[in-house]
Amino acid sequence: MLQRIQIGLLFAVPVFLLGVLYAWGLTLPVPVLGRTYVIAMTLPDTQAKLGLPEIAGPADASRPLVVIDPGHGGPDPGASGASYREKTIVLGLARALRDKLVAEGGIRVAMTRDDDRLIVLEERAEIARALGADLFISIHADSAGEQQGIEGASIYTLSDTASSEAAARFAERENNADIVNGVDLSGNDAAVNAILVELSQRRTLQGSSEFATLVEREGEGVLRFHPQARRSAALAVLRAPDMPAVLFEAGFISNPEEARALASAEGKEQFAEAMARAIRIFFARQSISD
Ligand code: ZN
Repeated sequence: MLQRIQIGLLFAVPVFLLGVLYAWGLTLPVPVLGRTYVIAMTLPDTQAKLGLPEIAGPADASRPLVVIDPGHGGPDPGASGASYREKTIVLGLARALRDKLVAEGGIRVAMTRDDDRLIVLEERAEIARALGADLFISIHADSAGEQQGIEGASIYTLSDTASSEAAARFAERENNADIVNGVDLSGNDAAVNAILVELSQRRTLQGSSEFATLVEREGEGVLRFHPQARRSAALAVLRAPDMPAVLFEAGFISNPEEARALASAEGKEQFAEAMARAIRIFFARQSISD
């Protein structure tokens, strides 16, 4: 039996690798029976217009827009637990939150994906920026592998160092053709742009942090948090310089009880309620300070 699995793997691994390369859009020569065939695939054109998702909620564009980003999808399942996969659990949570916000009214909502597809990391925040999002929430779930008894949600914001680095990179990349926080960067001196982006990123990070605090506050007694729930890290998906962004790790799906709760109608409802309250308070405060 074991031998059969090994032989199976021997065949499966190259096919899998080929699939991964294919997904990355690479061109590679494949020798088959002495001849070399070339498989050509088009690299995704990053400049091409992103297929932007629909915005749900009021048609009034002056209403705040939150973009919800369910992590992973398609060939990338994310973490997996006993019988749950991260990509499915986070899509369920994201939909529950969107539906809650739309039902309560007043806030516009879009999702980076609403089905089982893969969106590359860099595109996720770009979709939100292209839509003009006022808040970006990426939803994930964690796995602690074989370790037992680990549970609870965490909220990530971009770390300070990562924030400065991202600002510098962004200023360099976008020097000639972008608008950050309403400021047109084209025609500006590179050094001036670097400062503008850095300032914008700092303000954005402050917004992200305020929102994370609200999630903790509104989720208290409703959501199960990890003992060290507030974290910061260099997460690519949170690097936009002008859009407050958090990554919510909903819990550990390696913990069967937690996975079941997160996948249940009740668990989704609790998440959606707490998160929707935090979002409403966040936007209400923004409109006062604007
Ligand atoms: Zn994830």
